[in-house]
Amino acid sequence: MGRRAPKKILILGAGFAGIYAFFELHGRYHKDPSVSLRLISATDYFLFTPLLHEVATGGVSQENVAFDIYSIAPCCLDFVKARVESVDTRAKSVKTTVGEFEYDYLVYALGSTTNFFGLPPAAQKRVLPLKTLADARVIKARLVGLFKNGEMPHVVVVGGGPTGVEVVAEAHEYIEELMKTFRILKAPHALTLVHAGSRLLPNFSAELGYEAAQVLKKRGVEIVANDRVVDVGRDEVILASGRRLSANVVIWAAGVKAHPAPFNPAVETDAKGRIIVTESLYLKNDAHVFIVGDAAALSDVPMTAQAAVAMGRAAGDNIARDIEREPMKIFSYWHKGDMFSLGQWFAGAEIGGWPFFGHFAWWLWRTTYLSKVIGFRNKIKVMVDWTLNIFLPRDIGI
Ligand SMILES: Cc1cc2nc3c(=O)[nH]c(=O)nc-3n(C[C@H](O)[C@H](O)[C@H](O)COP(=O)(O)OP(=O)(O)OC[C@H]3O[C@@H](n4cnc5c(N)ncnc54)[C@H](O)[C@@H]3O)c2cc1C
Repeated sequence: MGRRAPKKILILGAGFAGIYAFFELHGRYHKDPSVSLRLISATDYFLFTPLLHEVATGGVSQENVAFDIYSIAPCCLDFVKARVESVDTRAKSVKTTVGEFEYDYLVYALGSTTNFFGLPPAAQKRVLPLKTLADARVIKARLVGLFKNGEMPHVVVVGGGPTGVEVVAEAHEYIEELMKTFRILKAPHALTLVHAGSRLLPNFSAELGYEAAQVLKKRGVEIVANDRVVDVGRDEVILASGRRLSANVVIWAAGVKAHPAPFNPAVETDAKGRIIVTESLYLKNDAHVFIVGDAAALSDVPMTAQAAVAMGRAAGDNIARDIEREPMKIFSYWHKGDMFSLGQWFAGAEIGGWPFFGHFAWWLWRTTYLSKVIGFRNKIKVMVDWTLNIFLPRDIGI
């Protein structure tokens, strides 16, 4: 009798959810010929998004947040660099830009994309989102480019959540440093943060939102609350209230939505386009297809790296359980807390319901995120970047 064909597990996406599903399954099966594990992703690096705003503002080098898949994945990696085009759950196959792949178990972890909230297409082209490594490079190039052309930046950041707050704080420090680098003593520049809500950081306690607003205002950032950007011209931003703000850099950090689900037959999605999953993270009618990370809609599990890691691990564990003919587990999400940084020396954190703000929170933010960077070598590189920033001007190279 011939040997049975190995069970094929296919993981789509090498972000937080996909890579941790891979780690979980690789740990169990890398020496087991009865299971084959393949990872497919459009990028051959893992992007550590929590430090992306620092790449956009010269604080951390781009190679220190984009870790090559081959350097972080353990031995015997079967990796295919390709874009996923469609998933046929009846045929159990995935169509990609380099061909079709069959599976017995699928982990779908393609993440999310920028949500422009109905901004006209022409205006979408004028704003600079902060979602990918290329986005961060473009923002940095634009800021540095203005100084090289002798123009002063009029920056509008859209979005009062953690990403908007973090990027406006870092942009402030970067602009101050660029002024020194380009020997500009005093010149009019402006930084404005526009957000639709009544207060900053709606996911944090009101106290932290207030503290963050005070720090930003002290640094000269204008905060426009209860207003939305409805259009963007060549050198201005138009708000729903009718107000116009002069702007030559518009950074869009207003939120994300899931990619359109490429499933055949179609799957059920929520208002953010996320695919509705069961409590064990698989599709309602298909216990062999797991949806994890930003792509998955499950009660109040947030679209964060923290949740994506937990979901990726849990999906990996449930696949292993199914293979071993053990009952799958219900995914229960334990939220450890949230943090945001406010440039050098300041941050806010909420852990176990306790708010922290200031230097201690900044230390907490840095040590926590450093511990989450994958790989010892990468941790050291990020630490070196941060240490250099204390003593030297930030990088202006593209
Ligand atoms: C600027 C920024 C800062 C953030 N800061 C924090 C933070 O401080 N803390 C926190 O918890 N969360 C943070 N987040 C949110 C966090 O990044 C996401 O929740 C998390 O990345 C979701 O993980 P994921 O695996 O679902 O998606 P992702 O990490 O986005 O991974 C998706 C993967 O799929 C690949 N992919 C996408 N489309 C295709 C396709 N068609 N074909 C093949 N491959 C594809 C991508 O290349 C990528 O490898 C931040 C997000 C941003 C944008």
